[in-house]
Amino acid sequence: MSVDFSLLRTLHRMHRQLADIDERMRKGPLQAKIAQNNQVTFQTALDQAVESSKTNRMAADARQLQLGEREAKVENMKGQLNAADSNKEFQLLKDRIAADEQANSVLADEIFEMLEKQDVIEVEVATAKENVAKATAETERIINKVRNELKALKEERARIEGELKESEKNLPQDVQERYFRRAAAKKEDALSETDSRTCGNCHQTLTAQIVSQLMLSHAVFCQGCGALFYLKEGVTGR
Ligand SMILES: [Zn+2]
Repeated sequence: MSVDFSLLRTLHRMHRQLADIDERMRKGPLQAKIAQNNQVTFQTALDQAVESSKTNRMAADARQLQLGEREAKVENMKGQLNAADSNKEFQLLKDRIAADEQANSVLADEIFEMLEKQDVIEVEVATAKENVAKATAETERIINKVRNELKALKEERARIEGELKESEKNLPQDVQERYFRRAAAKKEDALSETDSRTCGNCHQTLTAQIVSQLMLSHAVFCQGCGALFYLKEGVTGR
């Protein structure tokens, strides 16, 4: 049974194109998934920054309130100084005022630090918001790109598959059954280009008998991987 090697070469090329398209169809959604994961990561960072801003702000507010109350208390004690019955009471009150003012000053420093920290956190929140906006736009861009590519790839795939089916009809009847069985299971590996020395798929060395059959353009299947051989262009013998 003789076979047209240029037909087999064409079939092999089409199988490879289909495999390439399948790979690209698989990769597109993966890209979209990566972009979506990035977006989630940036959103989590933003949520954390906002939470930290809220916590710090509330803590600073609580201390401000506390400081206000304590300052009012000091003012109140200062008012009591004139009403002190004795020097001793006066001095005690004086000491308490001094101690409280010292404690209030520490508290005021603490509040100042928290407000400074708040400024830093607000910058972090703004940056995180920008990152989320960028990542969201990027995800949308990639999803659109992938959607358009998938549509084009599906069309291309259908076209090549149609051409493949048409070309396969030109295979000799006696080769078709075995070829179709291989193609269903192995796709592009159902065919193998050989330089007449080794199989292009599994690299098994060809026997002298197989080489002589190939030289007569016979349909020969590899004893190693089962692929249908065709001679590499320009190869006429060893
Ligand atoms: Zn092989």
